[in-house]
Amino acid sequence: MNIFKAMKPDKVYKGVNDIPLDELRSMGKTCLLLDFDNTLGPDHATRPDQYAYDFIKKITDAGFSCCLVSNAKSGRSSGIAKLLEIPCVTYAHKPRPDGVNRALKLLGKDRNEAVMIGDQIFTDVIAGRLASVYTIMVEKYSSREIWYVILKRPLEKIVRLIGRF
Ligand SMILES: [Mg+2]
Repeated sequence: MNIFKAMKPDKVYKGVNDIPLDELRSMGKTCLLLDFDNTLGPDHATRPDQYAYDFIKKITDAGFSCCLVSNAKSGRSSGIAKLLEIPCVTYAHKPRPDGVNRALKLLGKDRNEAVMIGDQIFTDVIAGRLASVYTIMVEKYSSREIWYVILKRPLEKIVRLIGRF
């Protein structure tokens, strides 16, 4: 896959609540693979806040299955997933596609039915694209970020400028 193609999401939305679930359903999508940090809540939170609980309820009520796909250490991400009562793939190794593939296997879903949703090009978007699933990027939940994510943001800006998204 062309490297720029691998970095360009299918769609970009301001936040997870702006994602049109009806449209995804009409495209045959049935499961949402979710990044956590700065997608469903603050970066490096140890527990979900109301925003995450509300979104998970919204998508579950709408009939979607979901799974966290997190690069975080297993303790933190599985703790968050447990509180949200959803399955979780830890040590996902995004941007490698293996975490996405593990999530599909766990949910028993085909890649055509899945949507990867996350806030970072160099982890979530590339992982989703390499796994050949529909990929949505959301703007970061908050400007507070861990240093190694801050370092990647200027590069993301350049990629977004070139890729026009
Ligand atoms: Mg993130």
